[in-house]
Parts: sequence; structure tokens; C-alpha cells
Amino acid sequence: KIEIKSETEIKPGIKNIIAVASGKGGVGKSTVATNIAVSLVKMGFYVGLLDADIYGPSIPLMFNIKEESVNLQQHKNGILNPITSYGVKIISIGFFSKYGQAIVWRGPMVTKVLRQFMYETNWGELDFLIVDLPPGTGDIHLSLLQEFSLFKLKGIVIVSTSQKIALSDVNRSVGMFRIQSIYVPILGIIENMSYVLSKKTKEKYYFFGKNGVKDFSKEMNLFFLGEIPMLQTIREYSDLGIPIVLENKEIRNLFINITKNIIK
Ligand code: ADP
Repeated sequence: KIEIKSETEIKPGIKNIIAVASGKGGVGKSTVATNIAVSLVKMGFYVGLLDADIYGPSIPLMFNIKEESVNLQQHKNGILNPITSYGVKIISIGFFSKYGQAIVWRGPMVTKVLRQFMYETNWGELDFLIVDLPPGTGDIHLSLLQEFSLFKLKGIVIVSTSQKIALSDVNRSVGMFRIQSIYVPILGIIENMSYVLSKKTKEKYYFFGKNGVKDFSKEMNLFFLGEIPMLQTIREYSDLGIPIVLENKEIRNLFINITKNIIK
């Protein structure tokens, strides 16, 4: 196990919180959060993953945690027990709602659940708690950022494609994180689905546009953490509920490099 220098302790047991954000949905935020969490485990850290995407929780699918496998008897004194998968301790509203069932709650209910996920969950000792935020800039962000301000949040990691519409939404998110009353450090931005590699010609096709995220990061003074190609195998393993870093050495090395830059 690698020893890290802990900053101020956030909550007894949790040393660092890193939140993964995106401007819009479908850019691979949950995929990236999942693979960063598993990469940290591979690097020898104790890791938790809080799925804060209350209205669209996809973490249970990414870790192949089926509703039937969640033992609801586990709560003692109202304290929730996370489910451990591939070494990551996970909590998600998806564990408590039937697959396909819509979650229709108002803001205060969501805030209550998120507080429970933060404070009333048996996290134990964690080097890192990764938080998978919902896309965009909504209620959940504001309540979580308020909660985080009580803690020592290490920072936010942003995921985007190079597509114009994705970046224009990221622009809004960056604006929110940089509002003076909220201010949270942004650790960097990851370009996901950056290119498709032709098996035949080995040529790279920049499906969502070339250098969009890179140029944006320069313009906004954000650290460019790296690019992840669009690969059929990432999608396939994601559908199987197996994090790709466990299966593909190249992608694992890519994620480990990105993760090292995030935590340095
Ligand atoms: P978000 O959390 O931003 O809504 P997801 O992580 O759920 O996005 O990803 C959306 C879909 O895209 C998933 O089916 C996932 O498997 C797929 N996906 C994400 N990143 C990649 C990639 N680099 N290559 C191929 N498919 C990807």
C-alpha cells in the first residue's frame, strides 16, 4: 500500500474527496469516475465511490451490482453499508430503487439522501472518496458543494468530449465552480471519446472534433489531464459491468497516468 500525505482530515476516516463532473450527459463521466476509482485501488489506495447522480444512477450497472445482490438488512441504526465491488466501496440510490423505476423527488429529499450518503454511510478508512456528480449545474451540485465546503474537497475533475455543445455546457460548470462563494479547485479536464482508431489504416478519426478540449483548457486555464479514445471495448465492458482498466492493459496505463496527475 502506498502511503499518501493526508491533507486535513475531512471526516474521520476520509482523507480526500474528488468529484467528477461534466457539462452534459453521455460524455462518459460515470465511465471515467468508475475507472479512476478502480485505478486508485490498483495503485494501493482505499477507495470509495459515491454515486451522486440521483436522477440517473449508472454506477450499479458499471460495477454489475444487481438489485437482488443488495442486502437491505445491512442497515444498522440507520447507517448504510456500502457494497464493495472490485475493491471499491460504493453507495448509489440505484441500490434502493428498482431498475427502470424513475426517481421523482424534489430538491430537499435529494439533499437529505446525499447527506446520508456522506455522513451516515459506513465508509471506514478511505484514502479517496470519488463522487460521481450529475451532469450540468443543478440543485444537487449546489447542495453538495455546500457540504463539501465543510470538508476539504481536493477538487473537481471535468470530463468532456471536444464537441462544441459539450464544451459550452462545461463552460457553465466551470463558471459555477469558480463563483467566489462556492470556489472549488478544478484539478483538470479529461477529453473522452477523443478519436476512433481505424483498425485497418491505424488512422485516428476525431469524431467530435480535434483539439476542442485542449484548446478550451488553455483558454480557461485548466490542466489538461489526457485523452481517452472511443473504443468499442470500453463500451462493451461497461455494459458487462466490468471496469475496462481491469481488462485492457493500454487503457489501464492511460487511466493510471491520468489518475497520478489528478492526485499529485
Ligand atoms: P455520462 O456519465 O457522462 O452520462 P457514461 O459514462 O454513462 O456517460 O457513458 C455513456 C456511454 O458511453 C456508456 O455506454 C459508456 O459505455 C460509453 N462510453 C464512455 N466512454 C467511452 C469510450 N471512451 N469509448 C466507448 N464508449 C464509451
